[in-house]
Amino acid sequence: MIVAPKSKGFICTTAHPVGCKENVRRQIAYAKSQKKVEGPKKVLVIGASTGYGLASRIAAAYTSGAATLGIMFEKESNGKRTATAGWYNTKAFEEIAKEDGLYAKTVNGDAFSQEVKDQVIQMIKEDFGKVDMVVYSLAAPRRTDRDGTLYNSVLKTVGEEYTNNTWNLGTDEVEPAHITPATEDEIKATIKVMGGEDWADWIKALKDADVIEDHAITLAYSYIGPDITHAIYKDGSIGQAKKHLYNTACEITKQYADSDIKAYISVNKALVTQSSSAIPIVPLYISLLYKVMKDANLHEGCIEQMCRLFTDKLFDGEVKVDAEGMIRLDDWEMKEEIQKKVQETWAVVNTDNLKELADCNGYWDDFFQMFGFRIDGVDYNADVEI
Ligand code: NAD
Repeated sequence: MIVAPKSKGFICTTAHPVGCKENVRRQIAYAKSQKKVEGPKKVLVIGASTGYGLASRIAAAYTSGAATLGIMFEKESNGKRTATAGWYNTKAFEEIAKEDGLYAKTVNGDAFSQEVKDQVIQMIKEDFGKVDMVVYSLAAPRRTDRDGTLYNSVLKTVGEEYTNNTWNLGTDEVEPAHITPATEDEIKATIKVMGGEDWADWIKALKDADVIEDHAITLAYSYIGPDITHAIYKDGSIGQAKKHLYNTACEITKQYADSDIKAYISVNKALVTQSSSAIPIVPLYISLLYKVMKDANLHEGCIEQMCRLFTDKLFDGEVKVDAEGMIRLDDWEMKEEIQKKVQETWAVVNTDNLKELADCNGYWDDFFQMFGFRIDGVDYNADVEI
């Protein structure tokens, strides 16, 4: 089958198996080129197939020599439709890791469910004994709770309606986006999906089953960003979930102090991923940020961020945290000179000067590359097995 991108707004409904493999191969090559660390050896990655979770898995395997067990929620091909990008990424990762002598297995199912928790615990018992790191990198739009209740997360403000410029990815115009406030129920649902409850449930399930080592580290990812994005992110409904995630990190560390299990929040850089492209305002901010950070030679993608997490922040002496105990991988994004330039361009950007001020090509390259397209050296006219 010849596979071409079919995109609708911020979604691409096809994925290219060869392109996805090449994307993973390049991330692995980057991680291999980085310094090696004395880090974890048996790592569970929840949300391991795309974005930050996939890059965490690759960084753990190739900077620390870790065996990795991944969890993802992806669709296999039905013969007519391609599989999702995360499915191809994972197949590619498992194949290459095995060639390199590294254990790599993946469970495809709903990480919120008890069945998946039980299945993973069984696999850890059989294959690892215990895990020494748990990365919680889930980005989900919804969650079905134990009692069957469905919770949908929303990307809205809290309190006031908010209007600011956005880049309409469909029409390529810079136009105002009006974001309405979330209701109390919507905020609660967003916390249920993207907050820390399920992370804590995972750690408890692993501890109760005695499959997590003493001195283990567990991580979850967050975002803070500059004022421009606060109404929609940090102070919005998703931000309330991230506050809950932060509080959960503190609680996990306290609760398992006897076993010296430590939970950290890593605040990562704003990047194009399947989740972030769905957030209003953020694509315009990201495309302006990319331009400024590339010009300053400070740009990083998911793999550069996650390798820096392992080699500089986590396993280079003491874990490096800020005053609130958070790891700050957004340190380069938040540099004063970077934010000053982004704010200057934000103030004047419009439809006419968008392509000049923002890295729109870089944004779209990243977007299509997530689905295995626009990757040099891949023959997109060739018939591929989907
Ligand atoms: P992503 O969409 O690329 O990855 C999400 C992962 O979760 C995938 O592996 C997917 O298969 C998995 N998943 C989703 N629902 C699942 C379910 N029910 N069961 C099992 N697996 C499931 O997202 P991402 O941007 O890499 O986000 C990961 C984390 O990083 C999130 O907490 C996000 O808030 C955070 N973060 C993202 C950014 C950014 O700019 N993208 C910045 C900072 C922090």
